[in-house]
Amino acid sequence: MASLPELWLTVDSDDQRHRPGQQGHPTRSRSSSAMQSTSPSLRLRKGMAGFARWHLKQPRQRAATIFVIADQLGDADFRNWLADLLSASPHITIACHGLNHRSWSAWGEDQKGFTTALRLAKREIMEFSGPAWRPWFRAPAGYVAPWMSKVLAREGFTVDSSVNPSMLVARKAGKGNSWQKVEAAMESAGVVERPWLTSSIGPACGPALHLPILRGFAKRAWRRISTLPLASDENICDGSHEVVTVYWHLDDHARRGGLWAPPLS
Ligand SMILES: [Zn+2]
Repeated sequence: MASLPELWLTVDSDDQRHRPGQQGHPTRSRSSSAMQSTSPSLRLRKGMAGFARWHLKQPRQRAATIFVIADQLGDADFRNWLADLLSASPHITIACHGLNHRSWSAWGEDQKGFTTALRLAKREIMEFSGPAWRPWFRAPAGYVAPWMSKVLAREGFTVDSSVNPSMLVARKAGKGNSWQKVEAAMESAGVVERPWLTSSIGPACGPALHLPILRGFAKRAWRRISTLPLASDENICDGSHEVVTVYWHLDDHARRGGLWAPPLS
């Protein structure tokens, strides 16, 4: 019997300094290293406060998973914010968004480097998050390639949510690859892939919520799915369940004077 699709709300914790325009990408970045202060930018701090307000004030708190970048835990303010949020809400889970937001698939295959970074990131985020930790992964900036699936499986990750199944960003699957190849590799490695919601014209999550043209289609796509029941952890991990996955950025909550909210009705 086909069950109703369920909705998975996810948030990426990136700061401006993590993004491919700044670091971690062979051609898009200004600098090759992530060595900058780990202190959250003013914009991210506003986003952190805005997210907590939005999440905690809802009459029925909506469960959400935050994909955290391990290097952010090097900052006391970020740690305190996350610890406070976890103690105020039983509905937040924490997963892995990498060690320092390197765009893995934009570089050549590097199983060894990815293994080392993933292991370290997992240990740091898991130790910090305690019972809120989930062994789920989102590739920084959506740069995921088929070879990464084996590493994820070996390191104990059960769910990957990195695929943005749109032709517009197909290059992010790496040279000679496709989203279909990424999904097939995840399946054969035993990792459940949870691709992101798209609209009729392309990407609908993350930056697409704010880009001209894309954003109108994105908001309509979100409104159509926003009344679906929220997915349980068990169903997120069970590939036979249909789960619609949406994501936005923590620092989106800095918009509109801290009053921005994801377009969920
Ligand atoms: Zn990110």
